[in-house]
Amino acid sequence: MSKTLRLILGDQLNTQHPWFADKQKDVTYVMMEIIPEQLYVKHHIQKIIGFFLNMRHFALSLKQQGHHVIYFYLDSAENQQDFKENLLWLKQKLSIKKFEYQLPDEVRLDEVLKEIQKEFKESKVYDTYHFLTSRNEVKDFFRGKKQYLMENFYRYMRKKHQILVDDKQNPIGGQWNFDAENRKKYDGKAPLKDALLFKRDVTELVALLDKLQIPYFGGINKKEYNYPVGRQEAFALLDYFCQELLPAFGTYEDAMLKEHVTLFHSRLSFILNLKVISPYEVVQQVVKYWELHQNSITIAQVEGFTRQVIGWREYMRGIYWAEMPDFKEKNFFNYSTSLPTWFWDGKVKMNCLKHCISNSLEHAYAHHIQRLMVIGNFTLLAGIHPSEVDNWFLGVYTDAVEWVQITNTRGMSQFADGGIVGSKPYVSSANYIDKMSNYCKGCFYDKAKRHGNKACPFNSLYWNFYIAHEDKLRSNQRVSMMYKLLEKIEPDEKEKITEQAKKYLENLNSL
Ligand SMILES: Cc1cc2nc3c(=O)[nH]c(=O)nc-3n(C[C@H](O)[C@H](O)[C@H](O)COP(=O)(O)OP(=O)(O)OC[C@H]3O[C@@H](n4cnc5c(N)ncnc54)[C@H](O)[C@@H]3O)c2cc1C
Ligand code: SF4
Repeated sequence: MSKTLRLILGDQLNTQHPWFADKQKDVTYVMMEIIPEQLYVKHHIQKIIGFFLNMRHFALSLKQQGHHVIYFYLDSAENQQDFKENLLWLKQKLSIKKFEYQLPDEVRLDEVLKEIQKEFKESKVYDTYHFLTSRNEVKDFFRGKKQYLMENFYRYMRKKHQILVDDKQNPIGGQWNFDAENRKKYDGKAPLKDALLFKRDVTELVALLDKLQIPYFGGINKKEYNYPVGRQEAFALLDYFCQELLPAFGTYEDAMLKEHVTLFHSRLSFILNLKVISPYEVVQQVVKYWELHQNSITIAQVEGFTRQVIGWREYMRGIYWAEMPDFKEKNFFNYSTSLPTWFWDGKVKMNCLKHCISNSLEHAYAHHIQRLMVIGNFTLLAGIHPSEVDNWFLGVYTDAVEWVQITNTRGMSQFADGGIVGSKPYVSSANYIDKMSNYCKGCFYDKAKRHGNKACPFNSLYWNFYIAHEDKLRSNQRVSMMYKLLEKIEPDEKEKITEQAKKYLENLNSL
């Protein structure tokens, strides 16, 4: 009987995969902690720890089920710190005939594994059985269309998977999208809840990284590492979300607060992206919970959440596979500036950025609007090179894996793709940040000023952005309103704004 080697990558921790339905004597599973995977960008310490803890937990649970598993620890003597070398070593050692792997969700690894495949007489590639769509489903769905439109894809997903639709395929609640009800500033009407934290001592693992001089950044409480490990904790997080956070999720989805990092967000992205839990499991449970509690939870809450998981998440993955690798080179505005130094320590006088960046550095987490409308908004207005922005976002968040990070960062947030993901740049002045948060209160800068002493940088940079990129943006219908407003600003005022912006752009590190 031929011997088979099956590779499981660090973000393929799906215990529900058909591979594991029965034990096969001739199959060996292999998992690896590899130093170069820790180095392609500088990662947050909590991200590295979260991956390793979940990989080790997964390997152990497979072993406990009776599967044969070989696990290369970061410091295993036989670990050659390379996927190919380790696999060829095992091929020899175990007289392996057949190599099998699951489709990776990264172009780089896709290429690496295709090459490795050639080293084996026989090989087979499997789906990961995680997503609700195949790799090319978004591409096929939009074939022949001028533009990707998430809303159309989202409705297709709702119907295809029978989620929040009635038996005539109409949306439950009478409309497909309740986005207009998801834009409230936090007004105290729903009590804030603490995030559900899992407390785990990771001192030894951090010591291992230090011993091997793995570079990392960000804070960690070594005695109380708090991201979930394994399915049980993933479901505990999901239960907690349904019971405590879902009732106000949609209403305050875009709100930001100095005093609270996660508000009513689920924090499920990390464990979802490792594939420990599936999007279908998450959405099924959330919808079921809502069905049982319709008296206290409105449709807007559950629809808002569903849209993120079966809409945006699947859509971004589809765009990744449709547009990569070219997508990685996109730089629509030809930006070249480096990230300000305070992205690495949070020491900036702009209160909104201080909070969002400090939270990211401390918790390896920021919610969507903090990423999009504060941090990403700033880097877009400040002309930062999209690769610098990508590298920071890819390193800092525990949930950052390329397929979902780059489409959100370079696409949705930086408009470096010129409008593939979104139809207009997501930029704002202080007005929006003040509307959705309490950051402006007590800020060093004055939210109402466009220029002059302590004028909020977002204001001059915002108008300067439209002025500087008029050639590229004026024809975009979705921003025509901004150009109408710009025309109403007196030339003298415009000059003051651009001068102020120039001053700030020349001194980004001291903002
Ligand atoms: C610049 C930028 C970078 C981002 N980088 C990442 C990233 O590296 N990894 C990542 O998972 N998400 C990323 N996002 C999307 C989103 O911000 C995070 O998924 C979300 O903040 C995770 O927190 P949560 O689990 O509490 O989300 P919730 O608000 O509770 O949302 C529920 C789930 O919906 C999914 N989701 C929500 N928005 C998106 C989106 N835009 N794209 C894909 N899935 C979404 C996530 O799986 C999330 O867990 C990024 C967004 C921006 C603007
Ligand atoms: S005033 Fe400007 S810099 Fe300060 S918090 Fe408000 S938007 Fe941010």
